[in-house]
Amino acid sequence: MKYKKITAQLLKQLEEITGKDNISVSETDLNNFSIDESPEMQPHAPEVVVRPLTTSIVSDILRFADRNLIPVTPRGGGTGLSGGCVPLFGGIILSLERMNHIIKISADNFSAIVEPGVTLDQLAGNLAPHNLHYPIHIGDMSATIGGTIATNAGGMNAVKYGVTRQHILGLQAVLPSGKIIEAGGEYIKCSTGYDLTQILIGSEGTLAVVTRIILKVMPRPGNREILFVPFSDLQSAIRTVPELLRLKTIPMGLEFLDGEVVRLIEKYVDIKVPHDEQDAFLMIIMEGDSTEDIVQYFGQIESICRSNGAIEFFVPGDETGKRKLIEFREKAYQAIRRAGPFALIDVVVPRNEIANFMASVKKISQELDMPAPSMGHAGDGNIHIHPICFDPDIAAWRKKLPVLMKRIYEAGAAVGGAISGEHGIGIDKKKYMSIGISQETISLMKAIKACVDPNNILNPGKIFDF
Ligand SMILES: Cc1cc2nc3c(=O)[nH]c(=O)nc-3n(C[C@H](O)[C@H](O)[C@H](O)COP(=O)(O)OP(=O)(O)OC[C@H]3O[C@@H](n4cnc5c(N)ncnc54)[C@H](O)[C@@H]3O)c2cc1C
Repeated sequence: MKYKKITAQLLKQLEEITGKDNISVSETDLNNFSIDESPEMQPHAPEVVVRPLTTSIVSDILRFADRNLIPVTPRGGGTGLSGGCVPLFGGIILSLERMNHIIKISADNFSAIVEPGVTLDQLAGNLAPHNLHYPIHIGDMSATIGGTIATNAGGMNAVKYGVTRQHILGLQAVLPSGKIIEAGGEYIKCSTGYDLTQILIGSEGTLAVVTRIILKVMPRPGNREILFVPFSDLQSAIRTVPELLRLKTIPMGLEFLDGEVVRLIEKYVDIKVPHDEQDAFLMIIMEGDSTEDIVQYFGQIESICRSNGAIEFFVPGDETGKRKLIEFREKAYQAIRRAGPFALIDVVVPRNEIANFMASVKKISQELDMPAPSMGHAGDGNIHIHPICFDPDIAAWRKKLPVLMKRIYEAGAAVGGAISGEHGIGIDKKKYMSIGISQETISLMKAIKACVDPNNILNPGKIFDF
């Protein structure tokens, strides 16, 4: 597709749509919006950044872009890990940051209506006084509701509460043509035609710009306790997971970290954990109405862990200790980033295949002599593997990286998994998209895209080439 460059005349027309305070071509903005948080991502600068205030302005911007063949890339918090909001072909960055209002919280309907630029942190702060809770907790809570919908974000609590798609009741969205659609509503059941809400969730901003969201919220849990359990090897830690999932009250979070990741976090973030010389660790997060509610499971959890080879069993007890452990887990990405050039693999596999998959990853990493520290959401089968270059020869590492990535993705597909559990395909995984997914399936996805966006102006170059 041949896109048009934004001339001075087109810029002027765009400014008339957005208002002059909501459009920018400053070098700072063009630079800041040329990347997201993905490792190894080449920057691509937009030609202009717009910050609309209303759905009708979003609609006018898209109609203008479609008519003039200008690519538009929606952007939320820019915390994405796959290059989804990187404007590959320049054009317009459509930042939703100023559409950040909480429109309504219905405590008696357990729902909330928000604009897409509301962040997860902001939502949590606004729900708390109503004793309500939105259970999507990801490693960077400055992500926006719009961005988390576009990637179908998962995070730590998915083992108990599921991922974003389980918590969205309805959406308002603007199609590339500028048409505004409404899907779903403030109700929990619906059998009225195709479920357009679910098609848009996870579509990575390629089908429509989400401009209003109806969320399902729940009563705020009373208390949480965190258990930290070191094991001498990863296989033992992972073997423990299915048994923990059979508890009458399943953990809210069930994370694993391998020894390499733990030692990197300690080195670069300066938080220590006990038994850091061990090879694998489980972090088990339990919630309940009271401490007693949770503590009743400790004996059972400890005996499951010890019977699978746990070395120790730590419960921090006070709030400071609990926060420190969560912080330890949340800062993993920061630590890995500081350790050297790295890549990020986000494979998801059936939960009973984690051990087999991790054995393959270890073998591949050894055969290619490429360290790949791992951690992940063990409770839901979503594994984050971080090939890191500790070698001075970065060029050689970069050359080998696609071989390692492809083999790991194939190993995931071989046990019935998929190449992305929660970060999305974006630009980053586009060339691996056909691993574990049929051509017919991809063709149907492309047909949907072609139907909604025949001029391919909305977030082009993401998920697949079209
Ligand atoms: C330290 C760290 C930890 C993380 N931990 C997790 C984790 O635990 N779980 C997890 O799932 N992710 C995690 N992420 C990834 C990231 O936070 C998520 O992908 C998040 O959903 C991105 O939200 P965002 O608002 O930053 O979106 P952006 O990065 O701005 O955009 C992401 C995608 O959404 C599209 N988009 C944004 N807004 C809209 C809209 N209104 N309408 C249509 N499309 C839109 C963009 O075009 C892009 O394709 C982590 C990231 C970091 C940096």
